[in-house]
Amino acid sequence: MFSIKQESMEILLFIYGLSFFVLGISVLFSRSRDSEYFFANKIWLLGVFAISHAFEDWISLFEYIHPKVKFPLLDYIQSFLLLVSYIFLFEFSRFVIRKSFLKSKHKNKLREHIIYKLYYPPAIYTLISIGLLFLIYLHPTISGINAAIRYTYGFWGAFLLGGGLYHYGDSLKKNQNTNTLKLYFKISGAAFAAYALFSGIVVDPISYFPGNIINTETFINIFHFPVQALRGLCALVIAAASIKTLGIFRYELVTKLNESYENIKRFSSNASHQIKTPLTALRLQIHLALKKNKNVQEYRDSLRAIDSEIVYLQDMVSNLLLLTRIQNMNIRENFQFVELDGIVLEIFEEYSVIAKNKGVVLDIKNLDYIQIKAEPTLLRILITNLIDNAIKYTPQGKKITISLIKSVFLISDEGIGIPQDKIPMIYDEFYRVNAPGKTHIKGYGLGLSMVKKIIEIHKAKIRINSKVDKGTSISVKFN
Ligand code: ATP
Ligand code: MG
Repeated sequence: MFSIKQESMEILLFIYGLSFFVLGISVLFSRSRDSEYFFANKIWLLGVFAISHAFEDWISLFEYIHPKVKFPLLDYIQSFLLLVSYIFLFEFSRFVIRKSFLKSKHKNKLREHIIYKLYYPPAIYTLISIGLLFLIYLHPTISGINAAIRYTYGFWGAFLLGGGLYHYGDSLKKNQNTNTLKLYFKISGAAFAAYALFSGIVVDPISYFPGNIINTETFINIFHFPVQALRGLCALVIAAASIKTLGIFRYELVTKLNESYENIKRFSSNASHQIKTPLTALRLQIHLALKKNKNVQEYRDSLRAIDSEIVYLQDMVSNLLLLTRIQNMNIRENFQFVELDGIVLEIFEEYSVIAKNKGVVLDIKNLDYIQIKAEPTLLRILITNLIDNAIKYTPQGKKITISLIKSVFLISDEGIGIPQDKIPMIYDEFYRVNAPGKTHIKGYGLGLSMVKKIIEIHKAKIRINSKVDKGTSISVKFN
């Protein structure tokens, strides 16, 4: 029988373990918590797989160097590490499969999709564990246990992950940043698939197919080199390509930077336009006042008009500043427990007076006691803006209802409503719907953009239902 040089095999086994170890460490250290990619939230699973796999391989190395030393416990530890590592791999692949194969096309029917149902944890884990136990029953030795783990969690985990990564790379949006990234996703996908195949070969001879025909011994007899060499190669490719795919976080950063640059550009051109209008009005007022001699009362009137334009400008500038501050602050770190019902009640009382003056009924239907983790000042701004809008856009004699049911804040008005096609725009800075007859309603179009930022910071959800001339209902669901 052919035998490879002892040292080369040792080096091979060592590098093999090392490549997984490096992969594990890089994954665990480079993941970004705030990433929007589903990948980032789950990639630690791959990290745990790689590290436990590295130790499993180093135990193999130890046993290879000291074939005479027999620690039965070590065998069990090795099988345990093998199982743990492949379960983590499988869980990661389950996630990749569920997410990357079911993109937006299927979104509505996602929950009914066969893949979605099959990969629901209780279903898939029951299925695969039955398979595992059955194979162990067929060959109940330590070699049999290892083969069963490889044939079930190992093979399917690596194989599905391979397919998933390949597909995921393909689904990235096309731009110059993604071309190389796509390639690395494909390489690591293919390497994982190949690794899956070799994983099924690295078994001792066992009593059932394919282990009875395809195993480490038959491989070396046919090809005259150990299958571990191919696995080692796969491990190196997987580690190198997977580490490169972590560039997805950098790609994300670049995309975010580009987006915020565009936002700033749009924001400043809007802002300068918005400031120009009241300034022009101011100049006009002053111009008129200076035109001919006037009596004291006329000068007073002019100054009053100028004053109100200045108040308007001041208000807008402070709103603008607030909006930029919300964008820059690292607010989540300063979250505290706040009683949402208390805040709602306070603002309700404040606004009752304003509503009454306008002849609009402002009513609280339900107010559950609820504590949430939040930034209290921002919560106030959020609720104030929603109530302010409801009062502003609801005509005299109509009604506004507020309720707080568990963690959902709800506000419904019988106001002028928002046309369906305009709803997506109302969160944009300075956007105002040009409804006929509401030209006298003053505003900067900044309220809802602040609301949107605050919602994002709190990871809350906002929903708007509106019908023109019937009214608007807005719900905000906090976590
Ligand atoms: P600001 O809040 O800065 O004073 P604004 O109220 O016009 O000004 P937003 O609060 O951002 O700005 O709202 C954007 C637009 O959405 C409003 O101009 C209005 O057309 C529409 N809108 C918002 N809430 C309502 C509502 N409850 N009913 C009808 N239209 C609404
Ligand atoms: Mg508003």
